[in-house]
Amino acid sequence: MAQKIAYFIAGIAAAGAFAIALTSNAQDKAAKPTPTPAKNANVSAKKTGKKMQTVENTEKIEKITRTDAEWRKQLSPLAYDVLRKKGTERAFTGEYWNEHRKGTYLCAGCDLPLFVSDTKFESGTGWPSFYQPVAKNRIADQADTSYGMTRDEVLCARCGGHLGHVFDDGPKPTGLRYCMNSVSLKFVPETK
Ligand SMILES: [Zn+2]
Repeated sequence: MAQKIAYFIAGIAAAGAFAIALTSNAQDKAAKPTPTPAKNANVSAKKTGKKMQTVENTEKIEKITRTDAEWRKQLSPLAYDVLRKKGTERAFTGEYWNEHRKGTYLCAGCDLPLFVSDTKFESGTGWPSFYQPVAKNRIADQADTSYGMTRDEVLCARCGGHLGHVFDDGPKPTGLRYCMNSVSLKFVPETK
């Protein structure tokens, strides 16, 4: 019995030494500068790795519903104002109007991939602009007649979050301009 315990203790000591070896190795590594993780690194790796292509409209979008209190809790005050109360961020103040990296833009409310960088273009408006969504059925349009204008409001098809508006003065091939609020989107850079 005593011998067994002795072996057991020896085993623990060996494991401990091994763990220390691992730790010190990890510390060595940590001493070197490591690249800062992307801001949206908490978005699942599945979405970050692959290049998102335009997908077919055949997928079924399961709607997400949350209470107003839940949205308030989940979103920043500005994101809540824009996504849930149809607000608009001020031009040239958002995070993505000047974003040029390759990647995918998800809905900031529910993480549904909505746009890809390949369809983003310089609109000069101060809002991230795209000529088409990943799939037409991922967004919902509805007429918006507020502020004395007739515009097509763009909503996330899954959570109903307000994203921005779509205009027909965009570039080829669609001629559309999806004028989005940065705060309604979450950019996930493409990884090699
Ligand atoms: Zn959404």
